[in-house]
Order: sequence, then structure tokens, then C-alpha cells
Amino acid sequence: MMRYKEFGRTGKKVSVLGLGCMRFDPTNEPLAIETILTAIQLGINYLDTAPGYCQDKSEEFVGRALAELPVETRKKVYVSTKSTIYSDPTAEAVRRRIEQQLKRLGKEKIDFYNMWNIMDLEQYERVMARGGPYEGALRAKEEGLIDHLCCTSHASGEDVVKMVKEGAFEGITLGYNLLNHTFHQAGLKAAAAAGWGVVTMNPLGGGLLTRDAAKRRSLSDSSGSFVATALRFNLAHSEITVVLSGMKNPAEVRANVATAVSLERPDPEIIENILERFAALGESFCTGCRYCLEYCPQGIQIHLYTQMWDQVRLKIPEEAQRVYEIYLGDENRWLQGKRTTDCTECGECEEHCPQRLPIREYLDKIGRFLGEK
Ligand code: SF4
Ligand code: SF4
Repeated sequence: MMRYKEFGRTGKKVSVLGLGCMRFDPTNEPLAIETILTAIQLGINYLDTAPGYCQDKSEEFVGRALAELPVETRKKVYVSTKSTIYSDPTAEAVRRRIEQQLKRLGKEKIDFYNMWNIMDLEQYERVMARGGPYEGALRAKEEGLIDHLCCTSHASGEDVVKMVKEGAFEGITLGYNLLNHTFHQAGLKAAAAAGWGVVTMNPLGGGLLTRDAAKRRSLSDSSGSFVATALRFNLAHSEITVVLSGMKNPAEVRANVATAVSLERPDPEIIENILERFAALGESFCTGCRYCLEYCPQGIQIHLYTQMWDQVRLKIPEEAQRVYEIYLGDENRWLQGKRTTDCTECGECEEHCPQRLPIREYLDKIGRFLGEK
């Protein structure tokens, strides 16, 4: 049976597994709708979408899937969507965005609305500034267009702790998985302790943890599958309300639901057991901690490149290519106008990388792979 948890203090009970709606084939609406309806039928009642996902089709797919449900079932399904300061920098822009989203989703009120992808405290301040995105979302909440105001963040644990102290939101979505858990743990715990709903995204490390899963079977726990083990790692945390996973077809939904229902309750022993096994993996990946960034005199977004190189190393070059295209599509936001060719090979970043990654070598290789060099 699917487990449900209280989403912080919102009074809403949500499934411990959520459907990330970012992996549907944008050209195959029937499959996307079938995937969403399968998830709902199997007990998932938290759908996470956003503008831009699936070539900007995701919100519409969610709306059309919901329209196929009886009213009573629809009322029990919660939708989370977002707006980002990059495309909606003002209160008015957020307001316009929300109106568009309500139409796309076919809803009168958005259940969970997120200030999307707050990278650090400086950006948090800009989101919260007078006339900024938060103000627009707050006004929409007061008008009854939004039920709960939340945020998503890739900021460090320390920064998230400070954001939580401000108490402006009711929930947070964090990237959290076996690769980066130490970097995000303080934020995760602080949000849970403050009574926020805590959603985690990217439990499979953007595909890094699923590639060569067969080879890693010896590292799996009792589930017998490395993919399931990585998902169980998140599901076993008592602090986490919803584990989001991007699923692109009904088969993936069924497999992940089977994993979710295999845990009757959060269990610290499962976490310990998985961490011990994972330590034996012996592979060093970029955790996305971004400690290197402040030491780079060139301002290169090192973590984006090292993570793409990890994907190439793990033989998922198509995933690296896919995210690179996203970065190029909004270059100022992601790459901040800097490329691998800007690297002067000073080595400062490597001094401060906790993973001890040979960053210069990785930048050279990924730069060649992507055709920047
Ligand atoms: S390259 Fe190293 S320091 Fe930079 S984000 Fe990755 S793990 Fe962190
Ligand atoms: S080696 Fe390159 S990426 Fe690293 S700090 Fe120097 S310029 Fe930046």
C-alpha cells in the first residue's frame, strides 16, 4: 500500500512517491497522459510540473490528464508547479504566469506554488525583494489562486538553513541523493524540523546512479536492484515527505511504486546499510556542491561541466547532450556566458574540490565532447 505523509503544516496528505513530470516525450501526449493516470491509479497524489518541462508541454499534459478523472478523484491529487526569477523577475510577471498556469492545468487554485531553483542567499534576497516574484506569488495566494507557497533550491545546506529561519515558505524541494546527501543534509533537517514539507528531486543523480545498474547489483540492498536501492535511500529518510522521481512511462511508474511500497516506514538502518554499500563503489563524482565556483577567477560554472562529464564517463552521453542544450537555451542563466575555453588551467578549483576531481582534465574533455574546443 502506498504510504502518505502530512505535507508540513498544510493539512494535506501526500504520497511518499511523487511523479516528476519532466521526462515525458513531448511528441507523445497519449503516453504522457497514460503515465500520469497510471501513477494516480497506483496511489501517487503529488504531481510536480513546471513551465518549460517537456518543451513546455508538461503543464498541459497534467491538465489534460486531470480532466479525465472523476471530480472526487481529481480533488485528491495535488499539483506543484513553479516560476523562476529568470523568466518572471517581477510580481506582475509572476501573476501573469500563474494565470497562464491555472488555464493550462485546468485548476482554480494551484496546490503548491514554488519559487523555482533558488541557487544561493543572494538570489533568495532578489526573489524576496519588494516588487519581486515572492510578492507576486503572495498576492496570488491572498486572492485564493494558490494554496501553499514553497520553493525549490540547489543551495548549500548552510544557505538553506538560513532560508528556513526566515520562515517565508511552507515547503521546499531539494536535490538529494546518494551522491550529494552530505552537501544538502543540514538544509533537509532544518526544513523538516521547522515543520516544512520536504520534497526531494533527482533521487537517481540525473541518471548517474542508474547507469550500469546491472554491474552494481552487488551493491544493492535487499531490493536486488541498484536503481531501487538509490530510491530507497531517499524513501528511508524520516525528514523527507515526498520523493520525486521523473517517470516517462507506465512501466517506470509501476517499478517505482513497487519500490515505494516495499518500505513500510522510514528506517535509519536502511540508510546506513546503503551508505556502507555505496562507499564500496569507489567512484568519484561531482556532487554539485559548487565549492569550486568561488575560487574560479574566470567565473566558469564548473559543476555543470563536471557533471556532464560524469554522464559521459558513465556512458550516458545523450544525457549530457540533452542538458547542454537546455543550458544553451538559457545561457545567461546557466552558463553565465562562460565556456570551457575560458579556463586558464590555474588549478585553484581543484584545491577546493572535496571530491578531489581532476577538474582541469574534465573541463578539457567535456569541452571537446561538446564541441566547445
Ligand atoms: S567539481 Fe568538486 S567542488 Fe566543484 S561542484 Fe563538483 S564536487 Fe563540488
Ligand atoms: S582551473 Fe580553470 S576552472 Fe579551475 S579555477 Fe582555474 S580557470 Fe577556473
